Amino acid sequence: MTVQNHVFDVPYYQPIADECALFETAFNKGLPLLLKGPTGCGKTRFVEHMAAKLGRPIYTVACHDDLSAADLIGRYLLKGGVTEWVDGPLTRAVREGAICYLDEVIEARKDVAVVLHPLTDNRRRLIIERTGEELQAPPNFMLVASYNPGYQNVLKQMKPSTRQRFLSTTFDFPDAETEIQVVAKESGLDVERTKNLVRLAGHIRGLSSLDLEEGVSTRLLIYAASLIAGGMPVDKALQYSVVEPLSDEPDVQVALRDLIAVVY
Ligand code: ADP
Repeated sequence: MTVQNHVFDVPYYQPIADECALFETAFNKGLPLLLKGPTGCGKTRFVEHMAAKLGRPIYTVACHDDLSAADLIGRYLLKGGVTEWVDGPLTRAVREGAICYLDEVIEARKDVAVVLHPLTDNRRRLIIERTGEELQAPPNFMLVASYNPGYQNVLKQMKPSTRQRFLSTTFDFPDAETEIQVVAKESGLDVERTKNLVRLAGHIRGLSSLDLEEGVSTRLLIYAASLIAGGMPVDKALQYSVVEPLSDEPDVQVALRDLIAVVY
């Protein structure tokens, strides 16, 4: 879990559509928000940006298949011979009136949904069974979750009873002009050279024949741009930041290098 408290330091985020207004309204109305979209398209940055803009601390939890309700709520721990209750990140966020961001929530264990249900409907209550406490979430608490529909399999699907408690919006990679702006700003690479990278990304994302699990992310483009801005030759930079991260398959890697040769 990471906690950020730099309330006055608003991280850079380039809006794509009306997501900032949606977030702000959801926050003001006490409604939870679900962000759907591929990895590396700006979901986390968006939540960090909005939390800072709204002046709320943010508790980010990267969910995984072993993450249980107790990891979010808290547990009794043995400290110097005495057992002591220690709040988990969700409980802390509720107590403090913070934003709790559950990244890749779909990965978490099933018992997490049981905890989220009373917190995400009009009750806005966090029930801590182990201590017998019931916390009423304050108006400045907000729950935000994300997941990547592209990774879904039959075993990992969000139940309608959970999905229908959240407002939802889909994120995707930004349009070329916005992505050029984002990549140039984040990496320090000049706009001209950034344009080529974004053009390459457009080709890769448009290729269904390569059988890639997912297209190249904005995050990887920023890596590529940072290496190039640091003086690395383009072919090497793209090998490390695009070809290798996207596939382990030798023929797919060859096809990606061919594509790079066409663009450059
Ligand atoms: P996700 O949470 O969707 O996996 P991130 O929010 O971590 O992705 O985005 C990866 C990186 O891409 C961020 O660290 C940021 O540098 C950059 N990024 C992507 N989209 C934007 C955007 N719209 N504005 C600013 N930075 C962005």
